[in-house]
Amino acid sequence: MNFKQIPNKFENLNWQEVDSIAKEKRSTVIWPFGAVEQHGPHLPLATDSIFVDEIISEVLKLFTSDVPIKKLPTQYIGFSPEHKGFPGTISLSSNLITSMIREIGVQLSEMGFKRLILINGHGGQISLLNTAARELRSCAPCMAVFPCFMWSGVNGLSELLTKTEVEVGLHASLAETSLMLALKPELVGDERPHEVIKGKIPEGWSLEGNAPTAWLTNDFSKSGVIGDSRGANECLGKNLKELLINHWFKLIMNLMQSDWPN
Ligand SMILES: [Zn+2]
Repeated sequence: MNFKQIPNKFENLNWQEVDSIAKEKRSTVIWPFGAVEQHGPHLPLATDSIFVDEIISEVLKLFTSDVPIKKLPTQYIGFSPEHKGFPGTISLSSNLITSMIREIGVQLSEMGFKRLILINGHGGQISLLNTAARELRSCAPCMAVFPCFMWSGVNGLSELLTKTEVEVGLHASLAETSLMLALKPELVGDERPHEVIKGKIPEGWSLEGNAPTAWLTNDFSKSGVIGDSRGANECLGKNLKELLINHWFKLIMNLMQSDWPN
């Protein structure tokens, strides 16, 4: 008797399963991107990778097995030059990452996949993945490519957070610490650093706003935290987890119900 179920993980499929899924009209691959970089004295290096891997794995569990979407192994090491100087941070060059996305993406397109979602958990590589996606699309015009940031465009997110977190919580602060408390509390240390950069930047300029600067964490944080991690709690983390899962399930479901780009 055969109990085999079709797995969500691309790497657990066999070649014949990939062949038939890729040929489906709406075949889609989702490829999570994170980072291995300092996240303060209380969060693990792989924080961004763990988040995107866990959230997308949960999202995919909500789809029935006949929906042709499969998850590539999460790319743990990313582009993190801003955290250089903090031991443990490992960063690949932008060239290497864009080449990897192009090479792997072209092969997926050649197999017959119609869409590739690059779902990213690390704010420092949003523009890099946008660039890589556009390059890949020009090399594989038959495959739509979606470079997405896990925390962007999530309705209700700012309502769950404090004003400080929304304005200056960039790294390892309230949201990330809370989410990790909900996902992997055994990886969270006791410290709750508080390093808010408000007032240090010239008027009209910002870290990531309309007139941004290419900042280094060393410019304004000793602990590695940018924002306020005090007040982080598991309950907030669970609410964030639920919000992120619902948001991405809805968006991916919309895609899976459409024939885009045809
Ligand atoms: Zn992070």
